[in-house]
Amino acid sequence: MSGLALKNIRKEFGSFVAVDNVELSVPQGSFVCLLGPSGCGKTTLLRMIAGLEKQTSGEILIDGQDITGIPTHKRELGMVFQSLALFPHLTVAENISYALKIRGVSKAEQQARAEELLELIHLPGYGDRTVSQLSGGQRQRVAIARALALSPKLFLLDEPLSALDAKLREDMQVELRQLQQKLGITTIVVTHDQREAMTMADLVVVMGEGRIRQSAKPVEIYRKPADTFVADFIGATNLLPVRKGNEGQTLFGNQKIDGVSLPETSSSLTLSVRPEDLHVVGLENGALRGTVSFVRDLGATVETFVDVVGETLTAVTTPRERVEVSVGQEVCLHLPPENCVVLTQ
Ligand code: ATP
Repeated sequence: MSGLALKNIRKEFGSFVAVDNVELSVPQGSFVCLLGPSGCGKTTLLRMIAGLEKQTSGEILIDGQDITGIPTHKRELGMVFQSLALFPHLTVAENISYALKIRGVSKAEQQARAEELLELIHLPGYGDRTVSQLSGGQRQRVAIARALALSPKLFLLDEPLSALDAKLREDMQVELRQLQQKLGITTIVVTHDQREAMTMADLVVVMGEGRIRQSAKPVEIYRKPADTFVADFIGATNLLPVRKGNEGQTLFGNQKIDGVSLPETSSSLTLSVRPEDLHVVGLENGALRGTVSFVRDLGATVETFVDVVGETLTAVTTPRERVEVSVGQEVCLHLPPENCVVLTQ
């Protein structure tokens, strides 16, 4: 078990900069999710940590030691990638203990370790099966067990659950997190799924165009996004272009928003308000006035779309708290100032 530090990591492919200026400190035993849209550099960063790609500049340290010159197989890593590559001609137990066999560990020890890991992944007694006799989720667990056989210092996973259907994927997210907590192994997972990252991570690292846009605890990323990119990528949000009026008031189009003060700046300003923080209220009771354009009743939640000065804002509520409105109706929206985040970029 070990901590990881990335110091000013940069990766160029020819003239293209895939990863730039990445600084990250991962405490021992924590679970980090590298999150971001396709092409933002997540996999490239993970591959550099694994030693499958060499950084153009910067340092990668495990336990304070620069591992740049150390080849992949000596970095003491456990790796699970999107394509599982379990060996089809071996049994489940043989797959799990493969790395031990290569290292000349005795048969008895191999068997004991395989049994221990099968217990850990909730598949006791499955050791003699072939891979083809397993479901997708079970294969995924075996791939995880195989990667953990040598008790690695660092556990690296690239989109490990993306081949699974939605329900199984959600279950496996919880399972993977519980397993990681039990073992206390420093773990880094690449994902483009923000819900997955929020479920599993101690630390979410949001990347965009090769750079870290924000790295923080899941709730902090959600509640205090650093910029519009993060606010928009993590969950749904309303992004309102706002400006400071002549009397210092906050204006959204020609409408005033009370209780929110804007900084003095020459950059454009955006107000981020989560749909669950935006409340539909009766006329004259709220800060913004608009017209209902659509109501989506999803059973567990109700989404109300309200057009305000040319933008469509979304308010989400539970059915019990809903205010009955119809399309075309004029309403007001209340924005609790404490839940509004002013973003300067
Ligand atoms: P995805 O979620 O689609 O896997 P990602 O965030 O993991 O995306 P990377 O695979 O790290 O993205 O790629 C980052 C950028 O670097 C992309 O624009 C990609 O085309 C480019 N890239 C990756 N590997 C190479 C390579 N070997 N040669 C040239 N460009 C590359």
